[in-house]
Amino acid sequence: MPELPEVETIARELNARLSGRSILHVRVVRGDVLRGAFKDDLEHQCRGRRIERVWRRGKTAIISLSGGWHLLIQPRFTGAVLVDDAPASRRSETEPGESMELTLHVEPYAPADPYSVIEWELADGGRFRYRDVRRLGTVTLADDAALAHYCARIGVEPLDPEFAPDRLSGLLRGSRLAIKKALMDQRIVAGVGNIYANEALWRAGIDPSRAARALRRDEVERLHEALVTTLRASVLARGTTFRDYRDPSNRAGGFAAQLHAYGRGGEPCERCGTRLAETHAIDGRTTVFCHRCQH
Ligand SMILES: [Zn+2]
Repeated sequence: MPELPEVETIARELNARLSGRSILHVRVVRGDVLRGAFKDDLEHQCRGRRIERVWRRGKTAIISLSGGWHLLIQPRFTGAVLVDDAPASRRSETEPGESMELTLHVEPYAPADPYSVIEWELADGGRFRYRDVRRLGTVTLADDAALAHYCARIGVEPLDPEFAPDRLSGLLRGSRLAIKKALMDQRIVAGVGNIYANEALWRAGIDPSRAARALRRDEVERLHEALVTTLRASVLARGTTFRDYRDPSNRAGGFAAQLHAYGRGGEPCERCGTRLAETHAIDGRTTVFCHRCQH
């Protein structure tokens, strides 16, 4: 599932490509990913609105529209937001009075996609769409109040300045979870899932099964540093590609080559050469760690 760096990559790219553009109309092909709205509500509330900005909270990409409405997109396993822009040349070739719809109909600029779930046509002739092979992701329509309520339930953003070692220390002291589960608890820290919890704990040299509240001050500082460094590096690399994750330009993320623990069970630890162990005992997910240098 996309975590903070992947969703941040999606949001930044969508913001660059979509903000300032206006929605002409919406076509809901499959309504089962919708939350907080029926098909007709979504079509009605999006129509004619301007896209103000696209941003991220936790693992959710948020498309904020004019008039205080928001689209909350959680891609989860196979979801993606793709922007299909009509080539600029084709747009400029369209003479005044000529029907853009007819032009596009005669010569479609993107092939029909059987996994397209919701399609937003833009006033300038472009289009963006939510695509999801398994349709386990969600698209939620929220007004300002619903968005505020949603955001208030999510923990601190680890790339915000307020996420200092003291803050992390306080959060972990109040938790009864294993440190790996605490890092992945969205009410404690936003956006961290299995990949970046495994990576941060390996980098910090901390055993993922230890009680969060039992970490010493120096260990919390190491973990804080490891988490922030890992997330920042992954954002720079446009995230980690796994399964069907693609950014809005259909590009893969490049962070997989920089992973030290996640996906490397059975391989030698890059720090001490010991074979990395795999367990599902902590949270049912695959935890990869080094017996010898994670304490
Ligand atoms: Zn090791």
